[in-house]
Amino acid sequence: MAGLELEDRSIVYLPGVGPRRAELLKQELGIVSYSDLLHYFPYKYLDRSQIYRVSDLTENMPYIQLRGRILRFETLGEGSGKRLVARFTDGTGEVDLVWFKGLSSVEGRYKLNTEYLVFGKPVVFNHQYNIPHPELDDPEQAGQLASGLVPYYNTTAKMKRAFLNSRTIQNLQYTLLSSLKWHLDETLSPDVLAKTGLVSRSEAIRHIHFPSDIRHMEEARRRLKFEELFYIQLRMLRTASDRKRKYRGILFSRVGDYFNTFYKKYLPFELTNAQKRVIREMRADMGSGRQMNRLLQGDVGSGKTLVALLLMLLALDNHCQACLMAPTEILATQHYATIREFLKGMDVKVELLTGSTRKKERERILPGIASGDIQIVIGTHALIEDTVNFASLGLAIIDEQHRFGVEQRARLWVKNPVLPHVLVMTATPIPRTLAMTLYGDLDVSVIDELPPGRKPVKTLHRYDTKKAELYAFLRQEIGKGRQVYVVYPLIEGSEKLDYKDLEAGFETFKAVFPEYQVCMVHGRMKASEKEEEMRRFVSGEAQILLATTVIEVGVNVPNASVMVIESAERFGLSQLHQLRGRVGRGAEQSYCILISSYKLSSDTRKRLEIMVSSNNGFEIAEADLRLRGHGDLEGTRQSGEGVDLKIANLATDGQILQYARDLALAILDEDPELLSEPHRILNERLSILFKKRIDWARIS
Ligand code: ADP
Ligand code: MG
Repeated sequence: MAGLELEDRSIVYLPGVGPRRAELLKQELGIVSYSDLLHYFPYKYLDRSQIYRVSDLTENMPYIQLRGRILRFETLGEGSGKRLVARFTDGTGEVDLVWFKGLSSVEGRYKLNTEYLVFGKPVVFNHQYNIPHPELDDPEQAGQLASGLVPYYNTTAKMKRAFLNSRTIQNLQYTLLSSLKWHLDETLSPDVLAKTGLVSRSEAIRHIHFPSDIRHMEEARRRLKFEELFYIQLRMLRTASDRKRKYRGILFSRVGDYFNTFYKKYLPFELTNAQKRVIREMRADMGSGRQMNRLLQGDVGSGKTLVALLLMLLALDNHCQACLMAPTEILATQHYATIREFLKGMDVKVELLTGSTRKKERERILPGIASGDIQIVIGTHALIEDTVNFASLGLAIIDEQHRFGVEQRARLWVKNPVLPHVLVMTATPIPRTLAMTLYGDLDVSVIDELPPGRKPVKTLHRYDTKKAELYAFLRQEIGKGRQVYVVYPLIEGSEKLDYKDLEAGFETFKAVFPEYQVCMVHGRMKASEKEEEMRRFVSGEAQILLATTVIEVGVNVPNASVMVIESAERFGLSQLHQLRGRVGRGAEQSYCILISSYKLSSDTRKRLEIMVSSNNGFEIAEADLRLRGHGDLEGTRQSGEGVDLKIANLATDGQILQYARDLALAILDEDPELLSEPHRILNERLSILFKKRIDWARIS
């Protein structure tokens, strides 16, 4: 069966599936075609090739198999510690099987003094081995499976209710693979296979589902991880290389009055070396005659806005307009205010355009953009609406958080006759592997230095039982003339409760601090109300600002020196770091106080510990990736085409990723359009994987 057919062949035709199961597979797992099923990989394997002896158990064993009988059952503990313990022996020693859930059904299901095969992961507790929530099988029935590694597939509760469990999926894979007679079209080119020494696709797909031993399983995983990462890189790098070859960029050949006047007369401080370096890198891009597509990474407070402004002035010097797109209205408004303030005294026309810009204003601004009269436009998504037409857009800056995918970025500026230079700025540092995957088509500049004179923010972790001490501390800081943020989580699905917490907090703070002004902002307020509350805080009229994460990005109040984060355990690491970046902007010692409940999972405790011990955004981003995996990283889930990896793991497969990227780069260097015979297969695969034919170059 040819590769293409597998993509097109509906799973409903596979023996054992039928319409009802097909619907479930589609709904629950997104499996539609034969190929989808083949690429639904096991998440773990149980080693049934060996039966271990109790006397041979050691620490750190994976899931293993024992054979023996239950001597007695015993129920121990109370409340949440209540558990059922089965004393189990195989003649070489004894071990406890333990259940914390479903106690009564377990006891009814298994008989004493009967042979069972037990699967589970031994752990040490009270200097003794026990196996929590093991699986028990009748050895006769299990006999047919008792060789090799048994694959386990994730299934949902809904699927399990319809008896579409892991075992069923295993059977379906078997049926499908048998019908293919192991002949699967190769999807990597011969030269790639030769260079990497990877196993063939046929072998990999067969062994990922039915490995005969660990070595085969690992070879299969390696091949499939490589392939997954390789095609993402090939696509990204191809986009970038086509763009560079085919499209000319607007030539920013000179540094003129706008840039120079600002630099000499209005720049309020010396640029850091890192700021100077990234500006040089971008000037080189924009002066090369090619279109710039660059990612600017820099920690919170590293001064990305100022860099953006200088580049926009460079655009004006070359008779072009520039725009800056922010993810939220608040941030756009703040950028607008900051940039107006920087440019006070200079004759530059700057306007703000957002979703809530009034009709009358809009009627003034849109023609101004179209005529070229307005030179810099700052805004939200409103900037890419059809009604917005620039006379001569030379530079578009996207302050990220949107995480536009490669293709989405492509569509942003296509209506311009000449593509503008594009700069993407990330609000938070992201790990290198994630940057390569999300932004692999972009060149990268990094601001790795903070402006001088900043005192690092002191971060403390306190339990919510110690509120009195917290209030005393805040009173002391406000007494010195400082201002305080208090942030509450707002988590999708629990908004109702979250708003309640925020409002209760508001009442408490007003009662505890009657002598001070307390204000509040959240997403449900009208824009005008929000603005008024923000104004009260920014002007210093109010000392305490309570907010949901709407303040996360961008607000700049140098006099605010304390950031209190309520229910800190519910925030992601990069979010916490981003919030902390709101303080420490003035000369005083600043504080970030993470408030959590006493009961924390060990992962959460680790996260809070990392926050307390590190102020470095890149370090924190790497830790976040390690702790949570890329699937959960902020911004990657809603990105539509972000990081949806089936088998590779950005936290642990950095080396494979780098290798895949290097190889893709070398291939494109030699054969940019992938037209030569060995590479034809790569080209075909790209168009299957990324469905529609992409105009590779028309992407910015
Ligand atoms: P971010 O990179 O987080 O967007 P900002 O651009 O908001 O950072 O800069 C943070 C603060 O540092 C702002 O108040 C800005 O004016 C100030 N700043 C930027 N560059 C410098 C510099 N070279 N020296 C001193 N302060 C600077
Ligand atoms: Mg910023």
